[in-house]
Amino acid sequence: FAEIVRVQEALRTRFPEAGGRPVQVVEPPLPLPLPAVDLSGLPSERRLPEAERLALAESRHPFDLARGPLIRLTLLRLGEGGEESRVLLASLHHIVSDAWSVAIFYRSLTRLYAAFAAGQAARLEEPPVQYADFAVWQRRWLEGEAREREVAYWGRQLAGLPVLELLTDRPRPLTQRFHGAALQLRLPATLSAAVQALARSRYASPFMLLLAGFQALLHRYTGQDDIVVGSPVANRQRGEIEGLIGFFVNTLVLRTGLSGEPSFGELARRVRETALEAYAHQSLPFEMLVEALEPERDLTRQPLFQVMFQLQNVPLPEVDLGGARLEPLEVESGTAPFDLGVDLIETGEGLALVARYSTDLFDGTTIRRLVEHYGVLLAAALADPERPVGEIPLLGEAETHQLAREWNDTATVVAAGPVHRLFERRAAEVPSAVAVAFADEKLSYGELDRRANLLAHHLIALGVRPGSPVALLLERSVEIAVAMLGVWKAGGAFVPLDPESPRPRLERMLEEVFAGGAPLVVDPDRLALALERDGRPEVPDVLPDVAVGPGSPAYLIFTSGTTGHPKAVRVDHGSLANVLSVSQRDLAWDSRDRMPVLAAYSFDIFLFELWNPLLAGGRADLFALRPMPDVRRLVVALPAMTRLHAVPSLMRGIVEEIRGQGGRIGGLRTVFVGGEAVPPDLLADLLEVFPGAEVRVLYGPTEGTIICASHEVEDARAWRPLIGRPLGNTLLELRDRRGQRVPPGVAGEIWIGGAAVSRGYWNRPELTSERFSREDSGWYRTGDLARYRADGVLEYLGRADEQVKVRGFRIEPGEVEAALRDHPAVREAVVVGREDEPGQRRLVAYLTCEPEAAVLDEGLPELESEQVERWRTVYDTDVFGRSAAELEDPAFNVSGWNSSLTGEPIPAEAMREWV
Ligand code: AMP
Ligand code: MG
Repeated sequence: FAEIVRVQEALRTRFPEAGGRPVQVVEPPLPLPLPAVDLSGLPSERRLPEAERLALAESRHPFDLARGPLIRLTLLRLGEGGEESRVLLASLHHIVSDAWSVAIFYRSLTRLYAAFAAGQAARLEEPPVQYADFAVWQRRWLEGEAREREVAYWGRQLAGLPVLELLTDRPRPLTQRFHGAALQLRLPATLSAAVQALARSRYASPFMLLLAGFQALLHRYTGQDDIVVGSPVANRQRGEIEGLIGFFVNTLVLRTGLSGEPSFGELARRVRETALEAYAHQSLPFEMLVEALEPERDLTRQPLFQVMFQLQNVPLPEVDLGGARLEPLEVESGTAPFDLGVDLIETGEGLALVARYSTDLFDGTTIRRLVEHYGVLLAAALADPERPVGEIPLLGEAETHQLAREWNDTATVVAAGPVHRLFERRAAEVPSAVAVAFADEKLSYGELDRRANLLAHHLIALGVRPGSPVALLLERSVEIAVAMLGVWKAGGAFVPLDPESPRPRLERMLEEVFAGGAPLVVDPDRLALALERDGRPEVPDVLPDVAVGPGSPAYLIFTSGTTGHPKAVRVDHGSLANVLSVSQRDLAWDSRDRMPVLAAYSFDIFLFELWNPLLAGGRADLFALRPMPDVRRLVVALPAMTRLHAVPSLMRGIVEEIRGQGGRIGGLRTVFVGGEAVPPDLLADLLEVFPGAEVRVLYGPTEGTIICASHEVEDARAWRPLIGRPLGNTLLELRDRRGQRVPPGVAGEIWIGGAAVSRGYWNRPELTSERFSREDSGWYRTGDLARYRADGVLEYLGRADEQVKVRGFRIEPGEVEAALRDHPAVREAVVVGREDEPGQRRLVAYLTCEPEAAVLDEGLPELESEQVERWRTVYDTDVFGRSAAELEDPAFNVSGWNSSLTGEPIPAEAMREWV
């Protein structure tokens, strides 16, 4: 050791302060202390663990930079276990060493040891320059124009650097704690040869190909097109410094664009170009780069890149010293400097991989899966380099089976027949039981069925045939149940319309449904007419003889459309009967069930709330919705109920009301909540205020027949909203942009298949083919993003598009924007959902106006669209640098503030960016 320290000045350097700045002081050669610790007194099985513990403790022991020395040695004697073995702990401060230095240290040590052991004197050759020489040279170089040139290069190269959004298993801590762990994997031996072969034919280095594979993996994991990783370079570009111990290593930021669907070969070409350029600019120290670029300060992440990647091609060898063998001892540090660092090591028997990851962010299983996917991707990419990166397989066979089969093993046989037939059977069993109630009205099962028969005959007389749409325009009343049932019995599909919608909107909907033909509308007059004929001999009140099959439409329900018009989803009897029958069985509905109906009938969840109790012989209690649901009355009624469903915003109101009225309500069997993301804290509240009740999250779009997944909440500890698993006969898959399955843990779009898939949009083949595929038995692409937990439960991650939910209402901002733009005073409009206070999401419209329009003189634009009134549009002008108070000043001219900012109209895209 004394000899190594003699020739390597860095190991004799300390860093005291002089005049407020650190300086290097090189001490004369001195022998190093080598304390020895004898562990041979311990039982043999405890010696190695104790050595590892001491190694870890030693590595955490700080150095005194000012006093030195910055190398520390300890020799542990483990004792005889057949062989005498010792562990040498050598700690070198990073300021005087790097990985390359460690290799030099190791090599020097083995040479000297072998020589001394053979009784020979040995000296190391003195290097031509020392670290201090390099430091002086580097400083001069950086003081010249080189620094500016390098900073300019990197500034260009790293402009607008993205953050790599690898999904984590836990929320990111507010400050990094560097807790970590590592796992190892051996990549198939054939892979090394394949890398070498392709590298030769592409004039790329193996590192470049391995990096291309890794960046492709990160691209597939994150969906991001701009992938940044860090990678260390030895930074020893001159022969004179090759043999020096010292801190030379630098970190390069390697940024590769993956846009344009490149093949793997093309990606490798891009990586090669990036890497070659980066090597040419490798000498600007990373810390200076960070200083120069001033990335936004973020304590939760490392600056510039979050994932590290390197290929080590010189592992420390095992050395035979003649009578003794020297080998490196791995000690787990329990730390990780980055979110993830992947080291590949060429071992002679193929590539070994070490992944070091933050345990604050990731579970070991997640990282293991990731590196296994790396192996699968790499093998496939090397075998077929012309394949687009987006199509390279990631999943092994077992995983594919798990995703496609095990987690979608939902096939089941449930009660057959359309819902009205199932209801008729129930009605015959309990004719006098109360079926539906609203305020003072009550309808028994028998009466409901009889009235529905009357309506059906009336509708048939009016020309309703199997598959005909029949619009419902009804106030809230028990007659809604009569109307739905009557339409079904006549073979028709009902279309629930809200009579409070503005007339033009209603007209547009009728136009859409009846495609210009004469609309058939059941309103209170028509219903009265049908029922008036009660008792006349020519009008039977028995079941009309109309056959509907599983492929006949049961209802059309409108939902917001991106292009400015709502679109009607067509759901068939087979799908509706399936979801209700599965619910009847899985949730064991029975005649004691009683449920408040809180949804508006123009939303499909109304069908869940109404027909679940009615198929079981139970009772549905309609509650008034206008002007708002009366939460106080509801809570008073709840003790008589067995099930409850509400959207999260309403559920919050219910929880508060229950707490206000005394605390808890026992006796409910199931509390359902869904329709939009359900925050875990709301679930915790529900578990508390409804003791004994099963709490269930429901998920599903209208196009997936009311609900297609459900999650039974056991505890509310989940970090993100969970939506559970697919219901009976329903398939859910997570797919990427190209329609390929994504692995567990990775965000994908939810695709719905099986019985839940609806038939598409009524009279809208183009819209239908955008979202529905006919592959297999049909799929619907929801636009919802989710990922699988390791146990197959789906975790909701948000939307892939602009769609928002406001108090359970599904809104395409594009529809509202189109309505706003239709107004003569409005030039451009951008609409977003904003949640400035938790749980208080609202729609906010940002407008620019036509220059001539003196909008404020007339008040804000009067929009005929119902959304604008109902969903409380707020004209938020802050982005334009004006306060709302200024806007309210009638003297203030909108076109004035609009153009004062830019001098010209603001395009929608620019507005969207500001928003
Ligand atoms: P709708 O067609 O009105 O039922 O709206 C369907 C959309 O509501 C879905 O595509 C989701 O975006 C959202 N949604 C419904 N249920 C949930 C849930 N439990 N968690 C998160 N989002 C939900
Ligand atoms: Mg829904």
